[in-house]
Amino acid sequence: MRMRPSALILLSLLPLTAHAANDAAPVPVAVTRLFNHLPYGEASPADLAPVPGLAGCVMAREAVPDVERLLAAAQAEGIALGALSCFRSIAHQRRVFCAGLRDCDGEAASRARFVAPPGYSEHATGYAIDFLQRGANCRAVEQCFALTPGGQWLMRRAPEFGFELSFPAGNKQGVGWEPWHWRWVGAPAARARFAAAQASFPALPAAPRAQTKTAAGPEVRPPSLETAPGGGDYAVSTSRGEAAILLASSAMRRP
Ligand SMILES: [Zn+2]
Repeated sequence: MRMRPSALILLSLLPLTAHAANDAAPVPVAVTRLFNHLPYGEASPADLAPVPGLAGCVMAREAVPDVERLLAAAQAEGIALGALSCFRSIAHQRRVFCAGLRDCDGEAASRARFVAPPGYSEHATGYAIDFLQRGANCRAVEQCFALTPGGQWLMRRAPEFGFELSFPAGNKQGVGWEPWHWRWVGAPAARARFAAAQASFPALPAAPRAQTKTAAGPEVRPPSLETAPGGGDYAVSTSRGEAAILLASSAMRRP
């Protein structure tokens, strides 16, 4: 696991009793969160590659084949998925975070509800992608994405391709519900990057370890609606009706 010392501050702070079973990489026992977001270092340029078919989308090289397979599988069902954002450098994340704010520091807490502060974005790892559905009656990175066929399809099928939803509705991490934001954990290195998040704030749906192509060790049953840790704290939208209810009741709106 490659993390910059500045991004991974082992200071105590949170009761992240992260201890994922069978993980080769050590899991930090305590990390500093900023506005509920976990720290992430930046991927090396050598480890990044463009995703064919998604203009401007660069991701971790090892994730690209699964992205392509996912896009093809969706296309086969008549769903044209695109991406608004993939890898974002920490410098880029700073611009995204402060965009449109008159007082970036003063408004940081509210902005952080839906945009990670620089140094704390999963996008810096190269493993995260913000999907959108082309032609859908829903603007990009809006919660109505959960109602689109593409959003519904991802809830159903994305884990098959190593993707999991980082910030499900009602997540205990305290980050806004982002039905468009998925992270790829289809290889041990990727899974290690998100070990702390997975241990304390599980994705839902999560990509089961069995989906990793080269992972060693015993299989771990994927979390289900019944068995997910903290399951009662999650309101997972798997049907269009449920998503609509979540959407209507959500007070979380993007700025
Ligand atoms: Zn995102």
